[in-house]
Amino acid sequence: MVKDNIVKVRERIVAACSKVNRDPSDIKIVAVSKGRGVEDIKEAVSFGLTDIGENRIQEALEKYNELRAESRGLAIRWHMIGHLQTNKVKDALGIFDLIHSVDSLALAQEINKRAAQINKIQDILIEIKTSPEATKFGLDSNKAPEIIQDISRLQNINIKGLMTIAPLANHQEEARPYFKKLRQIRDSINLSYSLSMGMTDDFEVAIEEGAEIIRIGRGIFES
Ligand SMILES: *Cc1c(COP(=O)(O)O)cnc(C)c1O
Repeated sequence: MVKDNIVKVRERIVAACSKVNRDPSDIKIVAVSKGRGVEDIKEAVSFGLTDIGENRIQEALEKYNELRAESRGLAIRWHMIGHLQTNKVKDALGIFDLIHSVDSLALAQEINKRAAQINKIQDILIEIKTSPEATKFGLDSNKAPEIIQDISRLQNINIKGLMTIAPLANHQEEARPYFKKLRQIRDSINLSYSLSMGMTDDFEVAIEEGAEIIRIGRGIFES
């Protein structure tokens, strides 16, 4: 079932890429396994999805430890996609290869401090709020360039790109302005930054607008 879902997601990626002349192999799928068990993760990995996304530290820690104990050598890259509180940074650094949700200088400074203590250079994305919805996390898009400058000076942090979440919508076309905006911000700051944008319901549009990383949960794990 996970296998069939992955086949469908890959077909959708190929179709979206062909619309805008992109190479499907340039799109990285992060399989979002929040709320799912380790069996689901193992299944996704066995079909080639080795990038796994989680949004809560405690849940991620449990799965990380379980998988490490039972299947040494399972090559998973762990992605933190949820809001990260400063008091959870220490645990996060022990698990995650890429943190998508850095949304303040204070959080970046804490990551930098903790990373220095364990001699890690932590790869991160900067989460940007591209929509006016008050409840969303993410840096204010007007302030982002300056704050990213400050974060980029931190020695134990490596900024790999930008992330955004589009608001819930009835049609994925409604997400396009937010993805476009993230791309414009990226183009104005650093062209080598990757864009993490697009989920089950809107990833085709995200790909059309330049996403390199898409985060898919329901599309892979739901029956
Ligand atoms: C849950 C989640 C996803 C995946 O959402 P689906 O709609 O299940 O594909 C992607 N990104 C973030 C930040 C999430 O919390």
